[in-house]
Amino acid sequence: RFAKFIGCKYAVAVNSCTAALHLSILSNNFKKGKKVLVPAITFSATAASVLYSGLEPKFVDVNPNNLTLDFEDLKKKYSKDCVALICVHMGGHPCEMEKILPWAKKKKLLVIEDCAETCGAIYKGRKLGTWSDISCFSFEEKKIMTTGDGGMICLNNKNKFNKIKSLSFHGWNKDPWQRHQKSFGKKNYYTDHWNYEIVNLGYKYNMNDLMAAIGIAQLKKINILNKKRSNILKKYLSGIKNCKYIKPAYPYTLKNSSYWLFSVKTKYRDELINFMKLKNISTAVHFVPLPLNKIYKKYNKNLKNAMKVWKKIVSLPFFPDLENKKINYIINCLNQFDKKINNFKNYENI
Ligand SMILES: *Cc1c(COP(=O)(O)O)cnc(C)c1O
Repeated sequence: RFAKFIGCKYAVAVNSCTAALHLSILSNNFKKGKKVLVPAITFSATAASVLYSGLEPKFVDVNPNNLTLDFEDLKKKYSKDCVALICVHMGGHPCEMEKILPWAKKKKLLVIEDCAETCGAIYKGRKLGTWSDISCFSFEEKKIMTTGDGGMICLNNKNKFNKIKSLSFHGWNKDPWQRHQKSFGKKNYYTDHWNYEIVNLGYKYNMNDLMAAIGIAQLKKINILNKKRSNILKKYLSGIKNCKYIKPAYPYTLKNSSYWLFSVKTKYRDELINFMKLKNISTAVHFVPLPLNKIYKKYNKNLKNAMKVWKKIVSLPFFPDLENKKINYIINCLNQFDKKINNFKNYENI
């Protein structure tokens, strides 16, 4: 059902997007030590999946205007030992796939879309998750749809599908459900239903039935959930349009969108976080550039925009059930803060 929803041939349900990313990379037999291009600003699992697979992340700078991969820097960071590229639709904002993809194909890179922060959006007439070779979705509790925890791998390549399916369940060569189903028929003399062979060093990454049941119910609501998100964004964007010191962090394009974050950009981020805290409004920072973290420091090379822009970014409450009253309250507080800075600035000028 998920494959049909996204518009791909195959989908493998797993227990997290982290597992999905790991298996996507393992679907190719890359030589150890090869490099995978990854944006500097993303959730840690994007880069961890590279290290799990015995490869090395090569961080690419982000475009400060949309926080996704900077195409010019991507071309600069590419080297012959790069074997794959993970495009992250940050906050649900689409990467410039129409530029990235033809270039990446010329370089023979395996392209993976990390769709953990989006689900069901259409970009330039094409669903996110169908642009690349393999795409990975997250059904973690906070994501666009949820199964408590969970993930999905979408692809069109049958061989890769079979390999990923096997790796997701202990490396077996036969699907248990299909084996057992085969032996049900009365006329059928198939007695081999118990038989399987372990052909890969697999993982316990499968999605269980309980998660899948929740996922089926969630999938029915996905369009409504996305619509609600886009309506809330519309209110937020119009509510802050007169602010001088607070601007949207993404160039939100709401038609057919599936945004996960409402983030703003301000020079006075820490002051805003504190102001909102005193008003009982929660905030978060998505994300500190990965190369500023201990285990990724050694991969930190020429990431000027990422190192600057993240200090200005802050996320505000954003989920489908956010009530109008609360949205208005948050907008009101943002405008109060903006006025405060403005008054202070005028005072400063005197
Ligand atoms: C949440 C997230 C993941 C990991 O998803 P899990 O399902 O929690 O493993 C990976 N990449 C990005 C960009 C994310 O936001």
